[in-house]
Amino acid sequence: MVKLAFYGKGGIGKSTCASNLAAIWAERGHRVLQVGCDPKADSTLLLRHGEELPTVMDLVRAGAPFSLDDVVREGFSGVMCAEAGGPLPGLGCAGRGIATALETLEEKGLYERLDPDVVIYDVLGDVVCGGFAVPMRQGYADHVLVVTSGENMAIHAAANIGLAVENFARRGYARLAGLVLNRRDVRDEDEKVAELARDLGCGVVGSLPRDAAVTDAEERGLTLMEAAPKGPMADAYRALADAIELGCGFGSGAPAEAGPAAGGVARAL
Ligand code: ATP
Ligand code: MG
Repeated sequence: MVKLAFYGKGGIGKSTCASNLAAIWAERGHRVLQVGCDPKADSTLLLRHGEELPTVMDLVRAGAPFSLDDVVREGFSGVMCAEAGGPLPGLGCAGRGIATALETLEEKGLYERLDPDVVIYDVLGDVVCGGFAVPMRQGYADHVLVVTSGENMAIHAAANIGLAVENFARRGYARLAGLVLNRRDVRDEDEKVAELARDLGCGVVGSLPRDAAVTDAEERGLTLMEAAPKGPMADAYRALADAIELGCGFGSGAPAEAGPAAGGVARAL
C-alpha cells in the first residue's frame, strides 16, 4: 500500500491535484482511497460529481453507531472517498477532529476492509497545529507531497510543512517526497520553487500549468480527468502521476532509492 499526503497553502490546488491523480491511478487499475482531511469536507466533491459525503466527525458527534458504509462511497472511476470533517464552526479544534476521524476510520477497519493500493490524504492548508500533522505521523502517510506555486505565501507555507516533515521524518514517520509546482505564473516561479526544494533537500516532482480547463471542469462538478481527458492539462496530470509513481515506488515506476536528507524524488524540472 502506497500512502501519500498532499499538503500546501489554502487554495493552492491540493484537492484538485489529489482528485485528478486519484482518478488517473484508479484508471490505471489501482484500488485508490482518497481521505479528505479538511473540515470543509470538499476534498472528494469533484470525484463525487458535487455530491457531499456524510463526514466521519458528523457521525462521531451524532453519537449513534455507524459503519464504514456510512462514510465511504465510490466516486469517479471507482475511487473510494471519505471525508474526515471537523468541528462545528467556532467550536472545538479542527486538528483534533482530523486525528479523531483518522483513528475512527482505522478502528472500523478501513484499510483492511478496502485493501487499497494507493491512499491519498488531502490535508487542510498550512501545518498550523499538531493535529494537521497527524496524517504525516502515526503511520498514516509514508510520503508527503507539498503543492506550491511561486507566490510568497505558498512558498512560506511549503517551507513550514517541509520543516514539519523533517522533524517527524527523523523519528521515522513520513518522508518529504517532493514539491508539486501548481503554477500561478508569477515572476521567477521555477527558480523560487527550485530554490525551496534545494533548501528542503527534496526535488520538484512535477509542474502543472495554470489552465482554465481545470476551473471549467470544476464548474461542471467534475475532475479534469473526467471532463477533458484528452487535453494538455490531462497530459500534465498524467506526467505528474508518472513522476510520483517513480519517486514513491509503485505502478510502472521503479522503487525509489532512499534519498539524502528528506528524501529524493526524481527532479522533473
Ligand atoms: P483548500 O486549502 O481550500 O482545501 P486546495 O488547496 O484544496 O484549497 P483547490 O480547491 O484544489 O485548492 O483549488 C483551488 C482553486 O484553484 C479551484 O477553483 C481549482 O479549480 C483551481 N485550480 C487548481 N489548480 C489549478 C490549475 N492548475 N489551473 C487552474 N486552476 C486551478
Ligand atoms: Mg482542498
